[in-house]
Amino acid sequence: MTRMSKINAPDIDLPDGRLFVGGEWETGTGAEITSIFPADGTVNRIFRGASREDGLRAIASAKAAQADPAWRNLKPHERARHLYRIADGLEANADRISRIQTRDTGKTLKETRALALSAAGTFRYFGAVLETMDDALTAQRGDALTMSVWEPLGLVAAITPWNSPIASDAQKVAPALAAGNAVLLKPASWAPLVSLELARIVEEAGLPKGLFSVLPGAGREIGNLLVEHPDIGRVSFTGGTSTGRQIARQAAEKLMPVSLELGGKSPTIVFEDADPDLAIAGVLYGIFSSTGQSCIAGARLFVQRGIYDSFVPRLVRAAERLRVGHPGDPATQVSCLVHPDHRAAVETHVAAALAEGAQLLTGGRRPDDPALAEGAYYLPTILSGVPNTARICRDEVFGPVLVVLPFEDEADLIAQANDNDYGLACGVWTRDFPKAWRIGRAINTGTVWINTYKQFSISTPFGGEKDSGMAREKGREGLRAYQAQKAIYTDLTNAPHPWAADLLDGA
Ligand code: NAD
Repeated sequence: MTRMSKINAPDIDLPDGRLFVGGEWETGTGAEITSIFPADGTVNRIFRGASREDGLRAIASAKAAQADPAWRNLKPHERARHLYRIADGLEANADRISRIQTRDTGKTLKETRALALSAAGTFRYFGAVLETMDDALTAQRGDALTMSVWEPLGLVAAITPWNSPIASDAQKVAPALAAGNAVLLKPASWAPLVSLELARIVEEAGLPKGLFSVLPGAGREIGNLLVEHPDIGRVSFTGGTSTGRQIARQAAEKLMPVSLELGGKSPTIVFEDADPDLAIAGVLYGIFSSTGQSCIAGARLFVQRGIYDSFVPRLVRAAERLRVGHPGDPATQVSCLVHPDHRAAVETHVAAALAEGAQLLTGGRRPDDPALAEGAYYLPTILSGVPNTARICRDEVFGPVLVVLPFEDEADLIAQANDNDYGLACGVWTRDFPKAWRIGRAINTGTVWINTYKQFSISTPFGGEKDSGMAREKGREGLRAYQAQKAIYTDLTNAPHPWAADLLDGA
């Protein structure tokens, strides 16, 4: 029998599980999706996801809505108003969104509230970018006025993961709509509800029907349809590296642009001259916030040899003081994982690390607290004693698991930090700014944090190197990813082309 949550804090009237297909609320005809509250295993909703037929209907109505002059011919400042209204709706509903997302993902209410407000900021930012981006009059080299104008691509598919849905949805949907496209959003099956809530807010904000659809469903069915369909002009994907690689292959076949925001195994680096208090707090936040379910999690910690024996035990003691608890408790720092299956995957990684010879410094098990027994909890875990070539130093765990390694000097550090398939982020802790600058420039990565970690700004481009992905999101140029450039030449002579002018008989 299905158990329903008795916990009050994240209780909310959840979306009913109908899909938002071409502006209509419909019961899906695809495979069943079960959304659970991972803090206690109770069921949020069981509903039917989108089938291929549902997806095809959404695509057809997106195509019609996007081509409609009522949308296509809007001036930038007029289209921006839609984004501002959605931003207002997100802000006004931040508390509700936060509760839904906490029920869907098990993230703390504090974190999901911040994500809801950041999503509002993302819509507002891209409305403002849209209003202030200019087309270009290019340098004239002949008797024609030369221009470069930016136009929408048409239909954009946004495929998102489960870890921060409202924020990753907004990061794609806002610039894609601002650019004048229609958007089909496919959220992950472990966290579909908040994306349906986004649909409700977009509908309430008055966006014309068809321009936005939300299609939860199986990646292999509905995700694959969106990637392969000839009417989809771009896929913006955030998720795992193997899925991203598969999408890139399919996109190559269609000659379709894609952006891929993928996995990571980011290094955080503590030099001997770092302020240890700043470094410990930053390293803990970098790996254990969001229960480690973060693409940018600082999962490999490099500590300089001279402080290794003093720094690591202090770090471990501090990690053991982290408050592991229910996501509705304001004191909680480390909540549950998104799903019991995901906890099982994290446990497999840790068991493999121990079998590889890793030493367990703390964690490595579920908490003893009986109040947490029903949830997908796992203690903050720190491992050491393995070389950088060990699997636990290579594979993304996507959970609260940190591996600590010593390094000798800058050259040794750069070699070890770069010896990894991923290149998403990096943190450097030192009081020596020129050194931080040298290291930051030498690490192959998309983002570098110096004496801080996991800071974000929508105005700063984000993306990965190597297996962490390709292309960038956010920033002013983030809008351009959803547009195509068109050249326009306008004759200024009003005279027949000289190549054929002598052929004219003047009649
Ligand atoms: P995933 O790759 O399993 O799924 C991501 C999305 O792709 C889901 O919506 C899924 O249903 C869909 N999908 C799966 N197979 C598909 C297919 N064949 N065609 C089309 N769509 C398909 O990833 P996940 O487990 O949901 O998320 C965790 C991963 O996401 C981690 O690797 C994490 O690092 C990464 N991530 C990256 C960033 C970033 O910005 N770089 C941010 C968050 C998460």
